Amino acid sequence: MASRTSPAAPAVPAAPITQDVLTLPRKLPETERTNLVGLTRDQLRAALIAAGTPEKQAKMRVGQIWQWIYHWGVRDFAAMTNLAKDYRALLAERFEIALPEVVTRQISADGTRKYLLRIAGGHEVETVYIPEEGRGTLCISSQVGCTLTCSFCHTGTQKLVRNLTAGEIVGQVMLARDDLDEWPEPGEGSIAERLVSNVVLMGMGEPLYNFDAVRDAMRVVMDGEGIALGRRRITLSTSGVVPEIARTAEEIGCQLAISFHATTDEVRDRLVPINKRWNIDMLLGALRDYPRLSNSERITFEYVMLKGVNDSDADAKRLVKLIAGIPAKINLIPFNEWPGSPYQRSDWDRIEAFADIIYKAGYASPIRTPRGEDIMAACGQLKSATERARKSRAEIAAEAGI
Ligand code: SAH
Ligand code: SF4
Repeated sequence: MASRTSPAAPAVPAAPITQDVLTLPRKLPETERTNLVGLTRDQLRAALIAAGTPEKQAKMRVGQIWQWIYHWGVRDFAAMTNLAKDYRALLAERFEIALPEVVTRQISADGTRKYLLRIAGGHEVETVYIPEEGRGTLCISSQVGCTLTCSFCHTGTQKLVRNLTAGEIVGQVMLARDDLDEWPEPGEGSIAERLVSNVVLMGMGEPLYNFDAVRDAMRVVMDGEGIALGRRRITLSTSGVVPEIARTAEEIGCQLAISFHATTDEVRDRLVPINKRWNIDMLLGALRDYPRLSNSERITFEYVMLKGVNDSDADAKRLVKLIAGIPAKINLIPFNEWPGSPYQRSDWDRIEAFADIIYKAGYASPIRTPRGEDIMAACGQLKSATERARKSRAEIAAEAGI
């Protein structure tokens, strides 16, 4: 079978990787119908009224249709049995319930699943499901590629193609639930043990550069009468788009993770170039207000461990000083290599020594176990294999300052 995935990853899997082509060569028909997935309740109401639903009934119809789509996962208007037959026919004529197309699904030796999805325009994005003891985390994408160029990130080597729509973002959650067979039977209540129990916006793209779509999508995902994942089960990761951080607190209210990665502006400028626009000091200022604004407990600082670049004891001590006063947890991420990557992962004893300094200063400092490396599904490895606007190795190295 033709592989559409990235070249072999450094880690050799213990068990065979499974990969299957699910829906090829199905192609969504070109259609004039409006896709209901990803519309907010207000947008859905307006769409139903425009299609002829009497205003007086609109609120009730929104509630019914919402429950069919997001609570029971139904895709066919004909199955919405609490609606009159004529009305179902009208809906089918005017609307569709469409998700991105799953091109391939790979399952790692450790159970991690990576989906390659095709969206309108033929673009591709990736979504990763990571099962763990008692929880399952879905890592979703917000853009095709990324405008930012963090020098350690594979996605950053792919130029931005476009923002995802709210429907394409919600669609990733729905597709994972389809694949895991996680919709309750029509008429039944919620499933107690959630397979997709958490969502992280840590896939491709910078979510705060696609704010409105991300916000609308997360509101759909959080809505209590549908997928109903609470705001504490959603984590948005940003490289540090400072002006949008307060808005994230106020308009989404989810957990926040920051791609921090360095303790001096000089190093952060090189690793996370957005630092040249909003430096460490400005970023920390915005973060200090976040817990109060969002009523969340603590902020996650993500810190990728790069050998000889940001992993010294002095870095660990500086980090602790910088974040003083911010309720925080520091996630140490062993660097995941990708073909052409200009860095190496820090040695294990170095990572542990770094974690120890942070832990002794009173912060949780978990070391993130790389998951799904054998299928290039680990943090920072995502990049659709078919994208055309690739940067060269020379460009990557130049941006990394090496
Ligand atoms: N654009 C957002 C979200 C996507 S990146 C952001 O930058 O926060 C998700 C996380 O993976 C970020 O913390 C990012 O810094 C990290 N990451 C990127 N490339 C990586 C790599 N090669 N190894 C380990 N972590 C990486
Ligand atoms: Fe974009 Fe995040 Fe990768 Fe930076 S780390 S290039 S912001 S996806």
